[in-house]
Amino acid sequence: MKKKILVTGGAGFLGSHLCERLLKEGNEVICLDNYFTGQKQNVVHLLDNPFFEIIRHDVTMPFFIEVDEIYNLACPASPIHYQYNPIKTIKTSVMGAINMLGLARRIRAKILQASTSEVYGDPVIHPQTEDYWGNVNPIGIRACYDEGKRCAEALFVNYQRQNNIKIKILRIFNTYGPRMHPNDGRVVSNFIVQALKGKDITIYGDGSQTRSFCYVDDLIDVMIRMMKSDDKFTGPVNAGNPNEFTIRELAEMVIRLTKSKSKIVACPLPEDDPLQRQPDISLAKKELGWTPKIEIEEGLIKTIEYFKKIV
Ligand code: NAD
Ligand code: UDP
Repeated sequence: MKKKILVTGGAGFLGSHLCERLLKEGNEVICLDNYFTGQKQNVVHLLDNPFFEIIRHDVTMPFFIEVDEIYNLACPASPIHYQYNPIKTIKTSVMGAINMLGLARRIRAKILQASTSEVYGDPVIHPQTEDYWGNVNPIGIRACYDEGKRCAEALFVNYQRQNNIKIKILRIFNTYGPRMHPNDGRVVSNFIVQALKGKDITIYGDGSQTRSFCYVDDLIDVMIRMMKSDDKFTGPVNAGNPNEFTIRELAEMVIRLTKSKSKIVACPLPEDDPLQRQPDISLAKKELGWTPKIEIEEGLIKTIEYFKKIV
């Protein structure tokens, strides 16, 4: 049956892929965005579809609509963007969650929160399982994002307990792919753009810190599976690719795949940059029957092809 679905942050990197996939599945999709880090360009190709519409709106302000499901993705995700106006980042996570949960309660819609591996902070448990409470500096430069997302999770579970609304919490680990903004500042887009332009590849610190990178198609797959799963399964559930690499390994891979002559240079490591990150995805495997399928080289090649067209 055709569902009416609201996607906040729908003009962003993940949101635009999600809107596309939900439309392909035959749904009616409303994309809501204030274009802080997203772009109309990401969804303009969907405008021919009569079951797609876009609305310029800021989630810190209340919003009313009748829908069956809400995917709450609105929030800057890259450290340079979420640290640009930290108070606004907190408001977006917290007031955005309150406004969307209030809406979900009023219209009895199911609602999914795009949470993050950042709720684990600089983790001392490795790989990270959902029952780990995390190691977050509440007053550091990443706190506006980490604590905002942690508060959003608290709001979700309490709206469920107090008001019995249908919630889903997905903890997303580093995801990359086409439609990342070229100036987004995240590591995969930075390295690819630098390599394609023949500029220095900027490794922060000594490059021994690790991340585990998931290709966007796999992530959208698990996000939709989570929304469709049994109402009793609320999460939080980790979503990411467990294959872990050092940032130096990633730089070397990008140089090799782009055949670039760029040199690697060391830059200062930002404060509170997590040293290691790898999702334990046993829960997603068990409850959602999901494992990521696209390995890093294949995903990087697709992403490099995209950036070749736009830089
Ligand atoms: P993105 O920056 O490309 O997308 C975020 C979108 O939200 C943008 O279109 C932006 O304009 C919009 N937005 C920001 N503030 C808003 C506001 N106040 N009102 C309305 N719209 C607003 O980032 P993304 O990578 O697509 O991330 C989407 C979501 O997934 C975010 O909530 C992010 O925290 C989460 N997430 C992403 C990753 C990742 O690796 N991509 C990892 C963990 C969590
Ligand atoms: N990073 C880097 N060079 C860059 C951008 C990022 O070495 O040009 C590092 C960053 O310090 C971090 C990792 O890459 O250790 C991932 O950074 P990103 O901003 O993509 O995501 P997050 O830190 O939120 O996982």
